[in-house]
Amino acid sequence: MAIATEISPFSQQEIENEAERLLNRLMHIECDSRRSWNIDTCREIAPLTLEINQLKAEKDAVILAHSYVEPEIVYGVADFSGDSYMLSMKAKQANAKRIVFSGVVFMAETAKILSPEAEVVVPDRNSGCSLADSLTGSDLRKMKSMYPDAAVVCYINSTAEVKAECDVCVTSSNVYKIVASLPQKRILFVPDRLMAENIRIEMKKLGIEKEIISSDGTCIVHDQFDPNLISEARENFPGLKVVSHPECTLNITGKSDYVGSTGGMMQYVKNTDAPYFMMLTECGLVERIEVESPEKRFISGCKLCPFMKMNSLEKIRDVLVDPRQEQIVELEEDLRLRALRSIDRMFEIAEGEPHQPNKGC
Ligand code: SF4
Repeated sequence: MAIATEISPFSQQEIENEAERLLNRLMHIECDSRRSWNIDTCREIAPLTLEINQLKAEKDAVILAHSYVEPEIVYGVADFSGDSYMLSMKAKQANAKRIVFSGVVFMAETAKILSPEAEVVVPDRNSGCSLADSLTGSDLRKMKSMYPDAAVVCYINSTAEVKAECDVCVTSSNVYKIVASLPQKRILFVPDRLMAENIRIEMKKLGIEKEIISSDGTCIVHDQFDPNLISEARENFPGLKVVSHPECTLNITGKSDYVGSTGGMMQYVKNTDAPYFMMLTECGLVERIEVESPEKRFISGCKLCPFMKMNSLEKIRDVLVDPRQEQIVELEEDLRLRALRSIDRMFEIAEGEPHQPNKGC
């Protein structure tokens, strides 16, 4: 947790008001076994959230926070929070001089692809992703040479270098529609092996003949869930609804009541009347629903993403004050344009979808 140790330039009353504002949101979080929120813990972080919010205005910056980062970031300082693609679209619309992307590096790259004129910075350059970092552009070029007749499809959770090598990018909400619509029978799908398995099942259900070849990446959060937990939980909690992401194994998605993107999962829980939910995803998403729909009840099951948790209020403050070179996301223009083409193609094919699909992790 962030602890303010320096003498604060804010008055006691300003700190008290800020602590109450934070407590109003954070008090609903129950699923976090690492800590609990009360007026004292909110008072500790209040000087920092006040400072960051003041810096944002001074620097003409927007802060985008993925739903999986710590809740004091989401509810303390973020201008927008959600999944990576929705955040990138928000960044584009916000037209800010500086974008602080509190998430992981591939997401900040997507923001840079869509907003090249803005300075996009990350609080921690080491905030990678097991899925995006499982495949380089060079790895993909080798795979493409082995399957020259295949359509190359990349999940949005991939690096800019990989997106630049693809025919079309997809999100977890439009992946089935786009894969089904491609004329090629053979699809090279990267970088998520488990999502590829889910696509095979879905194509079979739709009666569409496709050969899906995938690379071997997985999300270290979503590939960890134990299907036995679902059976035990269903016995102990009658009426339970199990919710999971297509980055999970078939053993999990096959036993779930709902499988969908981050935004889709949130909507499902908010709109479904059930006594309990089990969310097989990152805990940050559960915390968001706890804050925004405090009447919902969850049983434990979620996991933490170590990369997302590298983000902190202190790092956000520091990157706003004076970003180090390695915190600034830069892309060569040729690579950016090629990556942008795969994202634009996604919109062309997913015709009729609103331009803010909710979408990867
Ligand atoms: S939750 Fe998984 S896909 Fe998302 S950033 Fe973490 S490792 Fe990557």
